[in-house]
Amino acid sequence: MKIGREPLQAWTRELGLDMVGVASAERYRDIEPQWNPLSILPTARSIIVFGKSIPRSLFRGIEEGTLWMRVDRYLPPRAAYSLCRIFEDNGCLAVPCSPLAPERWPDGVAAGDDKPAPNVSPDIQVAAQLAGLGEIGYNGAFLTPRFGVRQALGMVFADAEIDPDEPFPAGTLCPREKCLACVRACPASALSATPVTRTVGEESFPVGSYRLEACRLCSNGAFPDTSCAAAPPNRLAAACTRACIACLEDSGRIATGYRAPFRRKPAWGCDTFEA
Ligand code: SF4
Ligand code: SF4
Repeated sequence: MKIGREPLQAWTRELGLDMVGVASAERYRDIEPQWNPLSILPTARSIIVFGKSIPRSLFRGIEEGTLWMRVDRYLPPRAAYSLCRIFEDNGCLAVPCSPLAPERWPDGVAAGDDKPAPNVSPDIQVAAQLAGLGEIGYNGAFLTPRFGVRQALGMVFADAEIDPDEPFPAGTLCPREKCLACVRACPASALSATPVTRTVGEESFPVGSYRLEACRLCSNGAFPDTSCAAAPPNRLAAACTRACIACLEDSGRIATGYRAPFRRKPAWGCDTFEA
């Protein structure tokens, strides 16, 4: 079944979403089975990634040091569920994906010799970059041209044929080693200025590596990943990512602007092992 981009845009707008992109399932032909949506829905033709902006005010209180809360990187399940229902109403098969920490795999016994163990966990940031929504930044956060780091993502796989997007070129939003504001912002020096290489589709680019034990105990806005104790924390509101919000807004590289700057005084911070 062919689904046009206009209906897809309309459906996601109706669900209150701010962005949607499509990666062709063809781009997953070389991905290992445990991370591959085709292990979940072998007839999938389209990997659909969508997002909703997170209000800037959720980060402002943490930036001021007056409010402490988790800022979710992933959308609650309802949007994916509702989108799957719409695909079904239009004659397609669609499966909602709950993003899980890759560290959680394997999480059970394989259902057959030819199958990967559960839970197969496609990387939602990789899918979002392949679907043209934005790029994985040096700090590991997903960056989009409209909101920078400020969105929560969701994903469904469908057997619908939808014209796919081109992958988003790395380096469009994040200048990487020419910036490193995220590295300088970590009071515990947990994000390395020496990059490692990450590959998305046919493109490889530098990203920072984290000192995991420091991030797990981070006292600067990170939140534990409640899906898996071994996983790195959610760093979306941590000092390393808040520096990125200020950097992207001040540089004018993202479309959403505000009258007052995000950062209005020097950032607070505690060295994790001194706090
Ligand atoms: S999560 Fe915390 S400790 Fe880890 S790099 Fe960010 S600010 Fe530093
Ligand atoms: S702070 Fe700079 S180097 Fe770090 S992720 Fe943001 S744009 Fe990239």
